[in-house]
Amino acid sequence: MKIGIIGAGQLGRMLALAGYPLGLRFVFVDQSGDAPGGQVGQIIVGAFDDPAALGKLAEIADVVTFDVENVPESVVSAIADRVRFLPPVEALATAQDRLAEKRTFAALHIPTPRFLPVATPEALELAVSQLGLPSVLKTRRLGYDGRGQRVLRGPEDLRPAWEALGGVPMILEAFVPFEREVSLIGVRRPSGETRFYRLSENVHHEGILAHSRAPFDDVALQSTAERHIQRLMDHLDYAGVLTIEFFVHEGQLLANEMAPRVHNSGHWTIEGAVTSQFENHIRAILDLPLGETRCNGHSAMVNLLSNLPPLEEVLAIPGAHFHSYGKGARPKRKLGHCTVVAATAADRDAALSQLLELAGHAADG
Ligand code: AMP
Repeated sequence: MKIGIIGAGQLGRMLALAGYPLGLRFVFVDQSGDAPGGQVGQIIVGAFDDPAALGKLAEIADVVTFDVENVPESVVSAIADRVRFLPPVEALATAQDRLAEKRTFAALHIPTPRFLPVATPEALELAVSQLGLPSVLKTRRLGYDGRGQRVLRGPEDLRPAWEALGGVPMILEAFVPFEREVSLIGVRRPSGETRFYRLSENVHHEGILAHSRAPFDDVALQSTAERHIQRLMDHLDYAGVLTIEFFVHEGQLLANEMAPRVHNSGHWTIEGAVTSQFENHIRAILDLPLGETRCNGHSAMVNLLSNLPPLEEVLAIPGAHFHSYGKGARPKRKLGHCTVVAATAADRDAALSQLLELAGHAADG
């Protein structure tokens, strides 16, 4: 059985690493022949909208999935006509457009920050008069890791932000002075069976995930988040792993965005849960029994950006693991991550401080 993955980044690579023990083989499409997946599978070199490369993938793979979200809907629809393609095209299309995404949340009674579509500078002024300042202006498409968005603090910020973001279709969101950010990862089989991981608490710097801790222990928020993601998965007739990122504001969940794929805030599941998000994604798209999502202890994950800390120093921390993605160093590039699993939250937090220091992050929350 051969799994095709559009994108050979670290997520694709970790999917392959999780799938080999199940006897699976992997083939990727990526613009770069030395993307992280290339060390663990074949790469068909081509752009994500290159019909020849994707056609070849559809020909040799039994099931196709993706580790990137910016594949044009028309292109994935064409693949989905030829080969089993999961998660469903509609989920990908919804996640690609922040307006469609927020409207889908709203239609399913999943609370979100207040938002308005903005298509012109005049509409932006009107939207600001309704939502107030500060607010966050985001491009509807192609925004990730803090790119494609600006915080508006004063009236003088509107025009420069509009122009800096390229005058493309956008949404304006009320700025949420959240207490914390959390994410829920769920997995669903085509038959409808679902499982959920424990909430992860996430800290971002400049829009990029810096570190996560799990489980975030809040019984009420956990069950509310599970009900939200269950409705979203059922609505999309979902198969695979799905993530929702939430703000916790005044003790309530507000959905920020969804990702129809394995997620950076779930990397702790490799060592910290009975079955990793990567293995469960593979199981789900093959309609195999899902694995247990229980935690093995208290976990933390630290992203390694820009450069990698010394392997030996990370591994000297009890319970720590190191994951390098095989990428060349570049400022702010995600080069790897490290995790720790401990018997208690206090031990986990002590190890997390050490990992943050080694990774060059400011020791914070
Ligand atoms: P996003 O690309 O939408 O995930 O945003 C990246 C990060 O920016 C989030 O994880 C938050 O830390 C911050 N952010 C995004 N939207 C808002 C908002 N409406 N209010 C406050 N912070 C936000």
